[in-house]
Parts: sequence; C-alpha cells; structure tokens
Amino acid sequence: MKNVPLYLAGEFVQSQTDSWIDVTNPATNEVIARAPNTTPAEMRKAIDFAAETFKTWKEVPVSERARVMLRYQALLKEHHDEIAEILAQETGKTFDDAKGDLWRGIEVVEHAANVASMMMGETVENVAREVDTHSWIQPLGVCTGITPFNFPAMIPLWMFPIAIACGNTFILKPSEQDPLTPTRLAELFEQAGAPKGVLQVVHGGKEQVDTLLNDPVVKAISFVGSVPVGRYIYETGTRNMKRVQSFAGAKNHMVIMPDADKQQVLNALVGASVGAAGQRCMAISVAVFVGEARQWIPQLKEAMAKVRPGAWNDSGASYGPVISPKAKERVEALIATGEAQGAQLLLDGRNCTVDGLPNGNWVGPTLFAGVTSEMDIYNEEIFGPVLCCSEVDSLGEAIEFINRSPYGNGTSIFTGSGGAARRFQHEIEVGQVGVNIPIPVPLPFFSFTGWKGSFYGDQHAYGKQAVRFYTETKTVTSRWFSSEATSTEANFSIQL
Ligand code: NAD
Repeated sequence: MKNVPLYLAGEFVQSQTDSWIDVTNPATNEVIARAPNTTPAEMRKAIDFAAETFKTWKEVPVSERARVMLRYQALLKEHHDEIAEILAQETGKTFDDAKGDLWRGIEVVEHAANVASMMMGETVENVAREVDTHSWIQPLGVCTGITPFNFPAMIPLWMFPIAIACGNTFILKPSEQDPLTPTRLAELFEQAGAPKGVLQVVHGGKEQVDTLLNDPVVKAISFVGSVPVGRYIYETGTRNMKRVQSFAGAKNHMVIMPDADKQQVLNALVGASVGAAGQRCMAISVAVFVGEARQWIPQLKEAMAKVRPGAWNDSGASYGPVISPKAKERVEALIATGEAQGAQLLLDGRNCTVDGLPNGNWVGPTLFAGVTSEMDIYNEEIFGPVLCCSEVDSLGEAIEFINRSPYGNGTSIFTGSGGAARRFQHEIEVGQVGVNIPIPVPLPFFSFTGWKGSFYGDQHAYGKQAVRFYTETKTVTSRWFSSEATSTEANFSIQL
C-alpha cells in the first residue's frame, strides 16, 4: 500500500503523522493508498518555507516564470494518459472523462504561460505638469488552494499555475479522497523546473484547512467544494482579513423550448446529467420543459435507460461509481425522499449492480418528472446521476423559476429561436449560460464565473480575474525636475 507523500520544502517526504486517511477505488472500495493528516509542525514548515521562497521567487523575471509553465504544459501532455489512469482509478471516472479532467487543467497552464501580458499595468504621462503615473501588478505572497474530490486535476490546475506564474508561492491542500493525482501533478511541476518551495502539497481535512485559514502569513485562499464548507471558508478567511475566492455547490437548470432540436436535447440531457455520475458542479440536474416540449420526457426516459455505469477501463460504460459508500447512501436517500414527496420516479437507479464489481458505489441513471421547487430533490445538490424534470408554460415562467434558485453556477437553453436565446441570456441570474450547449464552462482566457450561492467572493478562477485575485496593484506617481516649469516652493494645500 502506498503512503501519499507530502511535498514539503521542495522534497517528497513521508509525513511523521500517526493519523492516516484511506484512499479507495470507488469501483471496488479497495484501499489503494493512505493520505496523511499533516502534523502541525509540518504545516508550520510548509507555511514558513513558502514565505521564505516568496522572497526569491517574486524576483524571478516574469518570462522565466512563464517558461516554467511552458515546460509544465509539455510534460502534462507527455504524461496525459498515465495521469488520467491514476485519476480514473481514484475517482472512478471513465478513462475518456479522466483525460478531459486533466485536459481542462492543461489549458489553464497554457494560459498561465501568457502571464506577462496579463500583468501589464497602466500608464498616463503628464497627469500634472511633469508628473507621470504608472501602475504595476505585484504578487501577494503565500497563496493557498483547497480543492474538492470531483476534479483532482482540473481544479488544482485552475489555481497554482496562475498564482505561481504571477510570482506567488502556493500551498495546495487537495481532497483527501483523491490525493494521488495532485501528487503526480506536483512531481511533474518539479520536473518542469519550478524551484523548491514554490509549490507545496499538504494533506488532511478541516484541521489542516483551519491552519491555513488562521495563519497570518497566508494572504489568499482559493476554495472549491460544497456549500457549507464554502461559506465557512469565506467567512473565516475574510474575518482573518485574507483575500478569498470560494466556489461552492450548484443546481443547474436546462430550459427546453418546443422549437429546439429534439435529438440534440435528448443527447445533451443524458450526457450532462449522468456524465461523471452527476458529480460535476456544472452537471445539469434540472430539466425545465416549456409547453409542448414536455412530450419528450418519455423519450428521455428511453434514452437514459440505455445508459449504464461501469469501471474506468470499461469502454462501454458511460460513467463510473460515485465517490464513496457514504455518497451513494446519500444519493439513494434523496431518491427515496423524492418519491415520498410526490415526484414521479420514472427511472430508479437504486440497487444498481455492475458485473464483476459487487462492492462498487454504483447508482444507475435516475429520472424524476413532476418535480416542484418545494421538494428536497429540487433544493438539495444531489451530486449523483439523477435528473429532475419540471414543467412550465412559458419562457418567462422558466426564467422566473431559475432566478428563484439560490444557486447561479450554470444554465442553458435549447431553442431554435434567436429571440428566446437573447432574452434568456439577458434576463437569467446565473453566471455561465449556454445556448444549445448544456455545460457552458468558459475556456481559460475567460473566467469561471459562478454567481449567487455558487460563489462567494469577487474575482473568479483563471483568466484575467485570477491574475487580479493573486496580485496587488501598485500605482506610482513621479515627478522628475527637468525644467523651470517645475515649482520648487512648499505647498500646503491640494493643488487644483
Ligand atoms: P467538500 O466541501 O466536502 O470538500 C472540499 C475541500 O474542503 C476538501 O479539500 C476537504 O478536505 C475540505 N473540507 C471538508 N470539510 C471541511 C471543513 N469542515 N472545514 C474545512 N475544510 C473542509 O466538497 P467535495 O465533496 O470534495 O466536492 C464536491 C462539492 O464541490 C460539490 O458541492 C460541488 O458542487 C462543489 N464544486 C463546486 C465547483 C464550482 O466551481 N462551483 C467545482 C467543483 C466542485
């Protein structure tokens, strides 16, 4: 059995802890590794080393920092399949989906290599007679990332490449449920030529996160995870006067207009609801059928019934197991609640089995119709392969329904009408909108812009907003005494 190392002060080392967390393969529930609960002394060492390394890393020219990212993206591509295999085994994702998880992260690294142009300040000459002003974008110091289980490659890569390219040092605390992928990412980052201590990786849970939240040396916290933890991180981090960006849970609606292409709708709904076993923060979990479009629900049921879960290397499987027995129990309990509260259970994914893998956390595709906003299956983020169908009579009603949701991560509309699409994208109170695209995740030159209860903070992940998040702006105003026009008298009032 493998003990997951810490990446501490530039070395991959075994923790001195006596407290370990099992890492399992969700398709079998076999323990494949153990992650350490990093000790307080090791946490102290990581934070102090990050602060010390910052003094030298921030002086490294921006083009040299960018070159580390160029080498890193090449290494990630070279090791793409090998990392995806590690990722698939510890998350249960299918191999293709695991490759996608990493690929989305590689795109951020590519973007981070462009950091110099994103760190350009502004300048105005002659703001007063012989006075000029320019601004510089400077790194913050020690930045940290706390990441969830569902994208163990993409989400760490949303964070540390940009923070580090900006000249910061970074401590990553990945999910304790799948720490092997982030460890491999760190090994390759070292191979790409990142100096010791620029990136460090610690493991554990609340205790280790609390250390990062409360230590005055830490300047910024990037968090992605569930709503209660996201709120806690934002409240605690900001109370401690840190910069915090906190990405939390979601409930994403897809509106289906009667003039949409039916086959496109069915394909989009099936893939976006059960893909990755529904464990995506941008998964479609509510289908809102407008008017006559509701007639397609029986065909949706037929299409979903054909889908089956399976092991990561089973090429016929559409998705894998949910992450843990506890997650499976929670999803199944919510399915029971949905039925008890009066939703029509058209497809029941409980008691799902997969040949040869009797111990996996399997949940079959599940479809509810007649779901209303009073039901728990509507209000809770189920995070399983469960799609809820609601029905309304008009686009206006669909927009109002979605705008009442406390979440605002993603949404989409399927329609053949430009006017309907235009109205939807304008009026909807959700941060990422798709038109005939079910999961509209922006590429890294934009930012990941969740709204409302899906995001606490101001500056979002990756793109220009992330550069703003990980930096300070310094504005310099200077006067050089070069002519007689420059006054040499003392001034006691603000000059007009
Ligand atoms: P989680 O909140 O349980 O864990 C996330 C991280 O927080 C982990 O590193 C974990 O160790 C740490 N943590 C857990 N409990 C803590 C506590 N009490 N105090 C401090 N730290 C704690 O989330 P998860 O189950 O790993 O991930 C799934 C959730 O993440 C879903 O809700 C999903 O919607 C959300 N998510 C959101 C986005 C987004 O961009 N909005 C993206 C991906 C996932």
